[in-house]
Amino acid sequence: MSQQPCSPWDQAMQHAFDAIVLLDAQGRVTAWNPQAEKCFGWQAHEIIGQALATSIFDGDQAAAFAREWQGVHQAHSHLVLPHFRAVHRTGHVIRIDLSLACTQNAAGSQGVVFIRDVSERLDADNALRVAAVAFQSLEGMVVMDGCYTILKVNQAFVDITGYEAHEAVGRVSALFRPGRQDEEVYLAMRSALPEKRFWQGEVWDRRKSGERYSVWLRVTAVLGVNQEVSHYVAAFVDISKQRASAQRVQFLDFHDPLTDLPNRRFFLVRLRQAMAAADRKSEHCVVLLLDVDEFKGINDTVGHHVGDALLKKIGKRLRMSLHAEDTIARLGGDEFAVILQGMATETQEVAIRARNVAERLVHALGLPFAIEQRALEITVSVGISVSCGTRRASEDLLKQADIAMYRAKSDGRNCIRFFDTASQASLEARFALNAAMRSAFPQQFAVHYQLQVDAAQRPLGAEALLRWTQSDGIAVSPAQFIPLAEETGLILPMGLWVLQQACKQLQHWACEPTMRGLTLAVNVSARQFHAETFVRSVLDALAHSGANPNLLKLELTEGITINHIDQVVQKMQALRSHGVRFAIDDFGTGYSSLAYLKRLPLEQLKIDQTFVRDLETDNNDLAIASAVVGMGRSLGMQVVAEGVETAQQVEILRALGCDAFQGYYFARPGTAQALGVDIQRRMPQSTSPLETGHHQFLKETS
Ligand code: C2E
Ligand code: MG
Ligand code: MG
Repeated sequence: MSQQPCSPWDQAMQHAFDAIVLLDAQGRVTAWNPQAEKCFGWQAHEIIGQALATSIFDGDQAAAFAREWQGVHQAHSHLVLPHFRAVHRTGHVIRIDLSLACTQNAAGSQGVVFIRDVSERLDADNALRVAAVAFQSLEGMVVMDGCYTILKVNQAFVDITGYEAHEAVGRVSALFRPGRQDEEVYLAMRSALPEKRFWQGEVWDRRKSGERYSVWLRVTAVLGVNQEVSHYVAAFVDISKQRASAQRVQFLDFHDPLTDLPNRRFFLVRLRQAMAAADRKSEHCVVLLLDVDEFKGINDTVGHHVGDALLKKIGKRLRMSLHAEDTIARLGGDEFAVILQGMATETQEVAIRARNVAERLVHALGLPFAIEQRALEITVSVGISVSCGTRRASEDLLKQADIAMYRAKSDGRNCIRFFDTASQASLEARFALNAAMRSAFPQQFAVHYQLQVDAAQRPLGAEALLRWTQSDGIAVSPAQFIPLAEETGLILPMGLWVLQQACKQLQHWACEPTMRGLTLAVNVSARQFHAETFVRSVLDALAHSGANPNLLKLELTEGITINHIDQVVQKMQALRSHGVRFAIDDFGTGYSSLAYLKRLPLEQLKIDQTFVRDLETDNNDLAIASAVVGMGRSLGMQVVAEGVETAQQVEILRALGCDAFQGYYFARPGTAQALGVDIQRRMPQSTSPLETGHHQFLKETS
């Protein structure tokens, strides 16, 4: 064919855009134009005479082509075959469209095959389809022209921004308008894009609703044929939620999640800064440490959710009572701390101002808190420490406030104390005492008994009093170790132990004619009483010992009963129904009202020894003692005076109408054996309290 290049057909073959192949009746190649050479890589002389089907197709495609060719050939018809897979000489697959025609002339039948390589077009089509799917991603996507005018947006864009597609298309994207961003971010983006053709960063946008939100934006420039930017494609995700939660995580690292106040960690950072600033200005820095009194009791009795609500409200009240620049933190539990800055240079003046602030806070927290229809009242103990110019660690200043706060607690709570070196020493002594007590209990402990007598000085019973004698023979006063045991929780096993000893003693007395029928009073601490197991533990102690419950008398202090009266009454009644009796100890030192006392199933009222001590000389004490006796009588309770030391006191109390007495005048607390000897001495004629009928506690049996 190449020898006769001048016919129009040959011209067409030479210059055709498509590959053209001529076939004989058997499907063998008879002509193969330059475009076919280009398309398949075979030279004409290499392929002429070969079957086309097997030369450019593989496997099933070869068979399919052969079949189609057969059909066209037999019918002398024509056919278009799109999307065939052919194989280039190098082995790579190309996709082709074919059109076949078969004509019959004098020389026989002849086939013409036009072939076009459509690989690139198919690739582009596929890419478009993939792009269309990718465009509908979860990221907001915007296609813009080279001037940032929006051409197309996806559904995520609509969802995130609130703008419908038709509202956005045709406008310049706000993300790329000046004045909408931080100047710096905007300039960085606009300068990077034409040059680097890519930019990403965090930017601010505004939703249709007006809400500002932050997005992570990635913009890619698309180059046109002339290598100039023809389009921009922007993809963005809404990161406002992530940002908020990241900020929250960071916030929580330094804040207490309940009150949102700074936590201990943050507090120490602030304190360090405040102390450094105070140093520079030769000023003072003050730490106030506030601890809610008996918070555990509140938590235990009204529930933790009320306790939590209370802590939140305390935080708010503190915030409201202080200046914005003062730091308030919750260090943990019921402990709050405050830093006061910018305090004058004069130490004396600082102390006065610090005390004023502390008093203001104590007052603010002293007002009732309304929580779930309850009016909760609290008191706080406050410790104050003042930085005094010398460079000291912030932890030290906090520790000193802590020591002062402990001092406030041990001075009876609900008060304010400044740090001083003496309180530090006493705190250290407390730690030592606590350690010693833990290892000494119960080996070094014993229960002693102090006699109680009636108006005719006949024995009624005794009060059990715990004693701790250390190995060196030195006795530690219960006034010292009981509050410590109460605080550390050791009072629970300790109180139980006393109760068990007392019950055993009662049972022991039951077998002795002179002791039978004596009552035994046992002191119960607040923590012990409020423990869930309290009622059970008393009943168990009675059952195990076999003691008569009617002879057991539990002494509660006003402090125990002042809050949560319903639960208190419930517990008391549960024990009362088994015969156990109750006395209120140290009466007159608390705040109980008559109406309040009326609700408690009490047998006995004990006038505190502080009113007895100066009866002879102090008219106020006399008036109080007289009022207490009157109150007890009007409520039908027996009144006992404790701490009676002189005959004159006995006389006065008897005249006031006091029913029973306890004190050194009659007997000091001693061992059970000593008590037995004493009682024996008092009752020479073998009359036991029961037999004489003087035993007032047993007049009424339950
Ligand atoms: P309390 O229950 O008011 O006990 C009376 C205290 O007064 C006892 O002090 C007793 O020794 C003392 N006392 C008795 N007569 C006189 C007197 O004529 N003059 C003076 N000045 N004092 C007198 P004690 O034994 O030191 O106990 C102090 C407090 O420790 C008790 O006060 C009680 O609240 C507590 N306590 C003692 N033993 C126990 C116990 O087993 N459990 C609990 N929870 N508390 C206990
Ligand atoms: Mg007592
Ligand atoms: Mg007492």
